[in-house]
Amino acid sequence: MAVAVEVGELVGRAREGQHRAIARLISLVEDAHPQLREVAEALTPYTGHARIVGLTGPPGVGKSTSTSMLLSALREEGKRVGVLAIDPSSPFSGGALLGDRIRMTEHATDSGIFIRSMATRGHLGGLAWATPQAVRVLDAAGFDVVLIETVGVGQSEVDVVRLADTTVVLLAPGMGDGIQAAKAGVLEIADVFVVNKADRDGAETTVRDLKQMIAMVRREVRGHSWRQPIVRTVAAKNEGAAEVLSALDEHHEWLQARGELLRRRTARAAGEVEAIALQRLRDQLADLRGGDRLPELARQVVERELDPYSAAEKLIGDLTR
Ligand code: GDP
Repeated sequence: MAVAVEVGELVGRAREGQHRAIARLISLVEDAHPQLREVAEALTPYTGHARIVGLTGPPGVGKSTSTSMLLSALREEGKRVGVLAIDPSSPFSGGALLGDRIRMTEHATDSGIFIRSMATRGHLGGLAWATPQAVRVLDAAGFDVVLIETVGVGQSEVDVVRLADTTVVLLAPGMGDGIQAAKAGVLEIADVFVVNKADRDGAETTVRDLKQMIAMVRREVRGHSWRQPIVRTVAAKNEGAAEVLSALDEHHEWLQARGELLRRRTARAAGEVEAIALQRLRDQLADLRGGDRLPELARQVVERELDPYSAAEKLIGDLTR
């Protein structure tokens, strides 16, 4: 049995910036606690203020180092920053790699920063519903910026885009020919490109190749194209943070001016609702599997009393009743 939680009090303490309360709320989300709905309801009035920035790129490109650099720069501007490090390959939560590497640094003792790792593999519904709810926790807790860091492999970078207002794609020279490694999909999802490790040979080649690729894939959003900027950084030496932040600001202004921010957030909410609804239906179906209804319908299909489509419709009818 899950322990009952004083949700209102917990949310209150999270809003005062108490890290333990924030961590507890995210754990409730991850564990799909029975009071999840109550938690979501209590958070809702306080959400909608944080800027949500996704950061993705192949392993070793410098995501952790860049996150750390951006954290310092944002803190200098007086911003409070929450970081969710999503590790799609790890089945372990609460202590996955990416966040730990940042946690080790000077940010560990800063109360204006909250860092949490989330593992999504083997998780109920994966990134689909747990991560957006964790983002809501951080948003409601009053962080000005929520950074979602994820390794650019497979589906995860596409998922991160669905969550973020602005998506930053990191590339670096000498990483299996950088850009060839980054699939066309990654080029399309980027709002801002960062070529990290600009201190390395080949950085200018990476930038040039990237420009060519961008020209090929340039997308139009309601007739107004956003020109994806390319920012060069040396995250290991804290070089380029100001340029990244100003690119983020410009993109945010562009989003607001075009009504695109609202459109993105609405699309995100639609995805969230859908993911939650699907999970519910799956749970209910799983319950039915143990009962008599499904075997009875199956029997009717075998006996040719029903076709499988009609049987499925009857089943859905039961679910939504
Ligand atoms: P992640 O796997 O994408 O999170 O990458 P990390 O942040 O862990 O960085 C991978 C390696 O690249 C580490 O050894 C970093 O010290 C190094 N690194 C990060 N940024 C730079 C940079 O700007 N220049 C150079 N030369 N190395 C960097």
